[in-house]
Amino acid sequence: MPHHIPRGIARLVAAAAVCIALLTGSPAGARAGELAVESDFPGGSVHVDAIDQEARSLRIQPADHPGKGWRCWWFFKVTGIEPGETLTLTVKGGGFALPNQAAWSLDGRNWRQTARGKRSKNTMTYTQAVPASEAYFAWGPPFLPRHAEALLAHADAQCDAADRFVLCRTREDRPTPAVRIEPEASDGKPILLWVQARQHAWESGSSWVAEGFARWLCSEDERARALRRQCRTVVVPIMDVDNVVRGAGGKNQHPQDHNRDWSDEPHWHAVAAAQGMLRDLSAEARLTVFIDLHNPGPGKRDQEVFFYTCPRESLSDARQALQASLVTAARAEMTAPLGFRGQTREGGAGYDKNWKRISKNWVADRLDGPVVAVTIETGWQTPHSTLEGYRTVGRQMGLAVERFLREARR
Ligand SMILES: [Zn+2]
Repeated sequence: MPHHIPRGIARLVAAAAVCIALLTGSPAGARAGELAVESDFPGGSVHVDAIDQEARSLRIQPADHPGKGWRCWWFFKVTGIEPGETLTLTVKGGGFALPNQAAWSLDGRNWRQTARGKRSKNTMTYTQAVPASEAYFAWGPPFLPRHAEALLAHADAQCDAADRFVLCRTREDRPTPAVRIEPEASDGKPILLWVQARQHAWESGSSWVAEGFARWLCSEDERARALRRQCRTVVVPIMDVDNVVRGAGGKNQHPQDHNRDWSDEPHWHAVAAAQGMLRDLSAEARLTVFIDLHNPGPGKRDQEVFFYTCPRESLSDARQALQASLVTAARAEMTAPLGFRGQTREGGAGYDKNWKRISKNWVADRLDGPVVAVTIETGWQTPHSTLEGYRTVGRQMGLAVERFLREARR
């Protein structure tokens, strides 16, 4: 409080601030201008190590959720900010927890990136001027069940052939929302196009890629309509809903994460339901295209879009040709800003001894006929790893599939 204000008025102002804090539900004990952290909302995750009210700095880590996967996702709200002041945020964790630029938002809907943080051995320090009394900070733009619901409502409204459905209820009894878009033409068997994201809960960018794809598919774009005419498309924007809501990492969770669960006895309900639906729909399809969306590691080489493909020796010549054509089409369409320059890696035994339990390998192994199954990884360490950047990757992925199918007909 500036000292030239008479003490009585200062007391009144302070009392009013406390009343406002009570009315607006600010955390108990927080005085106006006193920084506080909240994470009690879907996807929230933080462990506060220290808040320095003088320095206006916060030191945090992702919350620890034992058994629920890597400790790398963080998302929280800061209150008590003096509008216009600059906050210093230091995040401690492994490389996967420390994006070069953090995501921040005033309203939890529109997300921007901070300036590049300063890295030390196991911390990253971001500074951000905040023009409001509250702000959200996160590893990346969060994608929560409410975003999935909004996407499905949009698809319903835009596209007559879209039907939202619940893939399953999770082990913690939450719905797993999904959408199915029926082909518009009825001549002959359709192509099955299956797009899923977020088998690893921390990889929020992958859900935004799925969202960008689905929004484009339901648009009036001529090439989106061409895809809709021939494809039965299923989009599952979040496979591991429980860990997304919990704010846990999910990767390598107990007993195994979703993308090591594609066996004959899956533990996770979403995997079992997806397997069943894939089996049924693929049997009715003349071609199955399966795409599993992820965010990769923090290293430089991982930051351009790349594909994990099925090991060559596990594929017939015909399937190798299909995979190569999809990669070629993707190279032509997925150009910028998060371009795909043809980088593919085989996700086989050399990558993981449990490679057969990875979704795309299960699809290739268990589904008959013409099948192409890939993982697409989108970098999260770039200035374009934003909501709009991820959506662009999704739209370009749709264009790539459309081109692939058009060229396959020739
Ligand atoms: Zn992943």
